[in-house]
Amino acid sequence: MSTALNPKRTVSELKELRGFTQDENGAQRVAFTKKWVETRAWLRKKLEALPVEVHADAAGNLWATLRGASDRALLIGGHMDSVPNGGWLDGCLNVLAGVEILRRIDAQYHGQPPVTVRLVDWADEEGARFGKSLFGSSACSGNLNMDEARVLKDKDGIGLPEALKAVDIDFERVKESGQELKRAAAYLELHIEQGPVLLDLDLPLGAVLGTFGVERHAIIFHGQAAHSGSTPMNRRKDAFLAAAKMSPEIYRIAERSHGGVCTIGSCATQPGIVTSVVAECRITLDQRHLDAVALARMLEEAEAASEKFANEGNVRVSWERLWQIEPVLFHQDLVQMCSEAIAETCGQTHRLPSGPLHDAAEVARAGVPTVMMFVQSLYGISHNKIEDTKEAHLELCVTAFDKLAEKAMRWVAAKP
Ligand SMILES: [Zn+2]
Repeated sequence: MSTALNPKRTVSELKELRGFTQDENGAQRVAFTKKWVETRAWLRKKLEALPVEVHADAAGNLWATLRGASDRALLIGGHMDSVPNGGWLDGCLNVLAGVEILRRIDAQYHGQPPVTVRLVDWADEEGARFGKSLFGSSACSGNLNMDEARVLKDKDGIGLPEALKAVDIDFERVKESGQELKRAAAYLELHIEQGPVLLDLDLPLGAVLGTFGVERHAIIFHGQAAHSGSTPMNRRKDAFLAAAKMSPEIYRIAERSHGGVCTIGSCATQPGIVTSVVAECRITLDQRHLDAVALARMLEEAEAASEKFANEGNVRVSWERLWQIEPVLFHQDLVQMCSEAIAETCGQTHRLPSGPLHDAAEVARAGVPTVMMFVQSLYGISHNKIEDTKEAHLELCVTAFDKLAEKAMRWVAAKP
C-alpha cells in the first residue's frame, strides 16, 4: 500500500457525499435528521478500512482514534452537518481531509504514530434547526448553556432534548463529552473561508489568527408619533431620523477600528404607517473584531454616536444587549506552523481572522492549543448551493493541512 497522501481521493469522496446528500437546492445534511444519520453511517464505512476505534460521545460527536506511542492527542475536526440548501464543502471538507490524513499517518507509521491522532465530527455545528450553533463542540468545551438549550424548539415545536433522544442522545448528559478533551494537546481545523479575502488576494490558502469577538445589541430610539401632514419639520421627534444617522456612522466606526466590521441588520418602526412620524425605531447592531480592546472601543463609539443623534433629534435612546462573545486567538506556535505548511505547499501565505465562529473557537476556549487553515471560496459565498472552491485548491489544502498535521504531531511529541 502506498504511504503517500492522496488529495484527489478527498475530492472524489466529497463528490460521492454530494451525490447522495444534495438535491437541486443544495446539501441537506441537517443535524439529527435521517440524511445526517445516513451521512454518519457512510463516514463510519470509510473509517472501517483504518485501525481506528470509533465511537460517538455523550453529545453525539463522532470520534475516530488512531492510538499512538503517547496518549497525548492531536485532534483534527470538522462537521458533516450542513444548513438546509447548503454547499458541498462547508464542514465535510475538514472531516474528509482528516480521513485522508489518518490514512497517510497510519501507513507511514505502520499503525503507531508518535502521538495519538483523533478525528472528530462535531454534532450540529450549524445550529440550523434550533438556532444554536456549535452544539456538539460547546457541550464538549463546557460552554453550552444548558438552561438556554433545554428550551430550544424547532419550527415544528419539537424541543432539542426530544430531537436528541430520537438519535439516542440524552440531553442532560451532553457535557460528559468533555472527557474527550482530557489528553488533547492540539486541535486543527481546515475550512473553506466563506468570505472573499483570499479570493481578492488571489491566494489559495491562509492561516487563521483567531475568531472575531462579537457585540450584538438592539438600539431603540424613542420619539413621538405625529401626523405627517400637520406636524412642521422643526417640531418633530422623529425616531427614524436618529436611527438612520447610525447607518453611515457605523461605516466610519468600522473604518477607524482597523479590521473590524459593523452591521445594522434590521430596522423596525412603530407605528409603521405612511401617515405618521416614527415614534419608535429599533435597529440591531452587530460588531466584530479580533482585538478585544478595539471591539470595546467600537461599541463605545456607537453608544456615543447614538446619544449624539438622539440629542440632535430631541428623542431618547436605549440599548439592549442581545449577545456577546470575546475574541478567541489561536495558538502562536500553531499559527506559525500553519503558515509554514502553506508556504511549503504553494509559496505564498497570508494570515487572516475568521468572521464566522467555528468549532475551533470552542476547543480553543477549552484551553487546547488550536489553529485553523482556510482555503479560498469562489465568489466568497457559502451556506448556498453555489458554494465552491477550485479542485486544484481543494487538493492543495489537503496537502498543506497534512503538512500542518505532521508538524503539529512532532510539536506535541516534543512537549515535555
Ligand atoms: Zn462550517
